[in-house]
Amino acid sequence: MSLLPIHGHTVLRARFDDAIRRNALPASLLLHGPLGIGKQRLALWLGQRLLCAGPEPRPCGSCQHCRYALAGTHPDIHWFFPRPRLKDGDPSPAKVADDFREAVGERIKSGVYTPPPPADGIFIATMRAMVQSAAMAPALAARKIYVLGGAERMTLREGAEESAGVFLKMLEEPSPTTNIILTTSELGGLIPTIRSRLVAFRVPALGTADVDAVLSEPAMQVAILAAGGPKKLEEQRRLANGAPGALLSGAEWADALVRARRMLDAASNRDRQEQMKTSLMQGSNKALGAFSTSLEALTTLLHERARSACERNNSSGAAAAAKALDLVEAAKMDATKRVNPQLITSELLRQLERLIA
Ligand SMILES: [Zn+2]
Repeated sequence: MSLLPIHGHTVLRARFDDAIRRNALPASLLLHGPLGIGKQRLALWLGQRLLCAGPEPRPCGSCQHCRYALAGTHPDIHWFFPRPRLKDGDPSPAKVADDFREAVGERIKSGVYTPPPPADGIFIATMRAMVQSAAMAPALAARKIYVLGGAERMTLREGAEESAGVFLKMLEEPSPTTNIILTTSELGGLIPTIRSRLVAFRVPALGTADVDAVLSEPAMQVAILAAGGPKKLEEQRRLANGAPGALLSGAEWADALVRARRMLDAASNRDRQEQMKTSLMQGSNKALGAFSTSLEALTTLLHERARSACERNNSSGAAAAAKALDLVEAAKMDATKRVNPQLITSELLRQLERLIA
């Protein structure tokens, strides 16, 4: 039972390693990039690197800190991610901690995990538990690490404003012995007051050799088949498209979602730059061009999906494609009303994910 070994991300890892040596690693980090490329795994690697007390090169993989980190049991590495809302509407920090011990145990058991279903979130009780634990001294290591995956699902508006305030303060003025690493595949969905307090790093999709290395992990193969993914390696490679974890998000829709995300992410970033330019030049209609083109491409993709589902007599697949087309049409309407492309993107992807689930 341990985490799947980390594959790839060598450039970022070297960069973080160098920053740690120069004592220049920002205390509050954001890792963003496509779904399923291993951002949380990279964040946990960084946590292990920070705590390792073994010989160079670090992480050594064999000191006590490394062993605990790899087993998911290091008392100073706190890993949070979207979870179902607990039955007790207002659970105590101790109950939340129990829930996460169990959930992390589940993730570690096979080493891989499926993306959380759309209804899961990082609720205020979780934030409260995190803030409370951050106030305590490290248990074993010289510092404490907080990894917050799926950070766009964070809710700060559920009454307990105090915890929200303390969390924002924690990001802004972290204790010198604390590192906080947030990850997200929906940069536009992240609360701006949080985003502005983090130093962001874009995590690129994995290269072919690294995708193959991930796919050759037996645990990964088991999980892909359990999620209804293809059996053939060639097909897995094609669908993964640099993001092998996305194969776990469910059957034939995984690749449509990954491609949609790529297109829309790229287009909404381009549009933002474009918008800044055009606002300087005082108005032009070009700003939304690239974004609309991507939405058109998505329409074409979904039409293909619907057709192939019909050919295979897959009526639920065809119905889902039709619904997805409606969502894209609604997004196109929003785009013509000049709603921010990043808002449209995150909302559309959320809806498409819900449809798949
Ligand atoms: Zn070590």
